[in-house]
This record gives sequence, C-alpha cells and structure tokens, in this order.
Amino acid sequence: MNKTIRHTVKIRANFLCEYCFCSEFFSPDPFEVDHIISIAKGGVDDIINFALSSRAVMVIKATQFKLLTLLLDKWFLYTTLEKIFGQNIFVGMNISLC
Ligand SMILES: [Zn+2]
Repeated sequence: MNKTIRHTVKIRANFLCEYCFCSEFFSPDPFEVDHIISIAKGGVDDIINFALSSRAVMVIKATQFKLLTLLLDKWFLYTTLEKIFGQNIFVGMNISLC
C-alpha cells in the first residue's frame, strides 16, 4: 500500500479510527491502515477494504475476532449513515475503545 492510498484513507476517516472513532491526534501510537477483511479471508486489495485503525483495534483484531465482528457491524452502520447524511455525524460523540 503506497503513501497516497494511506493518506487518502486517513483523510476519508478524518484521522479517526474507523472502528472505535478515537482520534489519531490524541493517540500515543500511530494509526495503521489495514485490510478490513484480510486478503486471506477473501477481502479485496482496494481502498473500499481499507480502514484507518487505532492500535487498540489492531490488538483486538489479532486476538478477539468476535468482538471485531461487532465493531465491523458498527463501522458499516457508521459508513452507511455517513453516505446517507453526507457528513461525519458521529464526530463529537463519545464512542471509543481507546
Ligand atoms: Zn480504534
């Protein structure tokens, strides 16, 4: 994944973790752009399958797949509502794992 794609994902996410919505600016660890569904599990290597992820989510993703599934449901709800309303409607809400 090149720097341009990584930056595009960060802009799209408004520098918020796309799973728990914590801000990269207030995180001690740099966020990562990762595959939502891994290539090994049938995910595509495209920006629609990339998400900006906090360190907390990366740890959960590696160890707690069921919890991640719940977070993914939240992420899809979030992106669907965002498409409908055309803005980041969850900014300012205290929804975070970090
Ligand atoms: Zn997060």
